[in-house]
Amino acid sequence: APAPAATVPRPARLTVLAGPTAVGKGTVVAELRRRHPDLFVSVSATTRRPRPGEVDGVHYYFVSEADFDDLVSTGQMLEWAQVHGRFRYGTPRGPVEDQLGAGRPALLEIDLAGARQVRVAMPQAQLVFLLPPSWEELVSRLTRRSTEDRREQERRLVTARVEMEAAGEFDYTVVNDTVSRATSELEALMGLEE
Ligand code: 5GP
Repeated sequence: APAPAATVPRPARLTVLAGPTAVGKGTVVAELRRRHPDLFVSVSATTRRPRPGEVDGVHYYFVSEADFDDLVSTGQMLEWAQVHGRFRYGTPRGPVEDQLGAGRPALLEIDLAGARQVRVAMPQAQLVFLLPPSWEELVSRLTRRSTEDRREQERRLVTARVEMEAAGEFDYTVVNDTVSRATSELEALMGLEE
């Protein structure tokens, strides 16, 4: 018999969140984790050095160039990319596959090049692009966040410009006007809201 009309499709198990630098991905993901402490959010490996307060194994796995090479050559990266022209970042494959294998949702917060790779590697993934309310707002958010020097900020703005143009490739866009509202939208897309 056909499924009743009220049946809604099961939410995609793997969600990829991307968006330009400083759009607030980290803040939205932090709020999502606060609401759903058990949600699996992938911890990426990176060759960049930790910023003050960042903890190895929590914010990132901070690895050497040689270790990163090994992870890639042994097929342990689901995707990886060189971001902002300098450091490499990648998603360890094992933990993500474990989650999906157990039927649990997983969230990746990665850059555009990585999102495109996941699209190919895991076509069932849903890709969500976080947008700033405006370009001016993005510039002001990046400039206010003083973790990078001026040259680095300029580098990131160039990347952000290019990345913004890719929003149309994504399954969904979410505008980060307020963290609370944007998080609720992501929550709904992931099928997490009660
Ligand atoms: P940050 O150095 O500010 O922590 O991150 C810089 C950029 O790296 C962000 O745009 C973030 O989305 C991206 N990124 C973080 N982890 C990964 C990853 O595992 N894969 C890819 N492709 N990009 C990542």
